[in-house]
Amino acid sequence: MTQKSTLYILTVLISLNVTAQEIKNSVEPSSLITNVELIDGTGTPGRKASIRFSGNKIIEIGELKAKQGEDIINGNGMILAPGFIDSHSHIGGSLEKYPEALADLNQGVTTIVSGQDGYGSYVDSIKAEIARRPIAINIATYTGHTDLREKVLGVNQLNRPATDNEIVAMQAILLSELKKGSLGLSTGLEYAGAYFSSCNEVLELAKTAASEKTRYISHIRSEDIAYADAFEEIINIGRVAKLPVQISHIKLALKDDWGKSSNIIAQLQTARLNGIDITADCYPYELWNSTLKVLFPKTDYTNPVSAQYAVDHTFDPTQSILIRFAPNTNYAGKTISEIANMRKEKPAKTLMGLIAEADDYKKAHPEAEGVETIAAKSMTDTDVINFLAWSNTNICSDGSNGGHPRGYGSFTRVLGNYVRDKKIMSLETAIQKMTSLSAEHVGIKNRGVIAAGYYADFVLFNPVTIKDNANFKDSKALSDGIIKVWVNGVCVYNEKKSTNKFPGTFIGR
Ligand SMILES: [Zn+2]
Repeated sequence: MTQKSTLYILTVLISLNVTAQEIKNSVEPSSLITNVELIDGTGTPGRKASIRFSGNKIIEIGELKAKQGEDIINGNGMILAPGFIDSHSHIGGSLEKYPEALADLNQGVTTIVSGQDGYGSYVDSIKAEIARRPIAINIATYTGHTDLREKVLGVNQLNRPATDNEIVAMQAILLSELKKGSLGLSTGLEYAGAYFSSCNEVLELAKTAASEKTRYISHIRSEDIAYADAFEEIINIGRVAKLPVQISHIKLALKDDWGKSSNIIAQLQTARLNGIDITADCYPYELWNSTLKVLFPKTDYTNPVSAQYAVDHTFDPTQSILIRFAPNTNYAGKTISEIANMRKEKPAKTLMGLIAEADDYKKAHPEAEGVETIAAKSMTDTDVINFLAWSNTNICSDGSNGGHPRGYGSFTRVLGNYVRDKKIMSLETAIQKMTSLSAEHVGIKNRGVIAAGYYADFVLFNPVTIKDNANFKDSKALSDGIIKVWVNGVCVYNEKKSTNKFPGTFIGR
């Protein structure tokens, strides 16, 4: 085409009142998803609509006619929602081995937020890893407090609070990470690497996060014996450091107080009324998954009184499963009570014995990772439902690739078990809690809603058949009902299979 004829066509188009966007759209290839019930992530009721997207962005929504040559996807009346955003994920570490990210895609998750519980990777290294090995999903990250402690205090100095000089050194690293796109500061205060930090240390670091208008997210200092103080600590951080604070995987893991989740929610509501932007995420299971050591809040792993306290008050040994145990792989998959029977001991004694054996194993095999993990029954369904339903809770998985079934089934479990079967909330509300609310809680922009200009991350699913299948025997069983998933405009999952496309990107704030 000559320059003159191009100019002529443009003049005609302009005279026909055609916008620049429409000219662009008419030349770039686009795709049209038709015949769907659109639940757009804002919480508003579902509606019939078609969605046009091009490249990695959504162009328009409405009653749209297909264009010549356009790629058309018939949704067959199923539900189209924004790709789910997992605000607390531990999948990141497995992406190098499993870049197709089936753990996430099979439950409709298109974006994960890593760097949780105080541990993660630095922004540059995440970006370099994606460049070296492209991935199917998007990833964002917080900066881990324990990582900062390890770097500045040293791995053998974690059993004390940081000095003023060390706090300043940690602040400098944190600031540099925030400027590179980290979403904020994450802590795992219940874990040994951070438990001995002072409230002041955490508060000063949170102030640095606030100075960059970022956020604070925390696995709080106690989820059982001292949970009331732990909730107070995070509320205080929000109040003094003046930044949004989020409680990671909110739970009530003290048997004596089961059923009292409403009191906690009331405490959080009061804080919100006082101007503190406090929110939470939650996964839909009564069992958590971590190290045996968190059952000893005072880190006195050889104290029989503390072991008996754990058995009596913080977990149920008859329903708690040892997921991994490197010193004796025969124990994996058995409950603590079963293992106690095998050893002809009381469960409290077994608890101490297992920790000692795991520590010895670690000494003999310093390179070994994840020597032991337990899935402990510490919650009740009533409290889980209360926390899931709180209007300031978004859904998360806290999952890894294998181990606890939450890694593969959290989002589909909410949609199947809790929304369709138990009807604890509307489908629109549940999807909002998996998309726009999650994006808002972690500071991700232009995702989590199906609207023009947003990224084309979608999940197409069948609300009648949707169901998690992962369990403790088969933790990687894929969910039913997730039909297709798109990330940045590219279909990455189709009928329980990866399409072997890797359009995932690092999301900075
Ligand atoms: Zn955690």
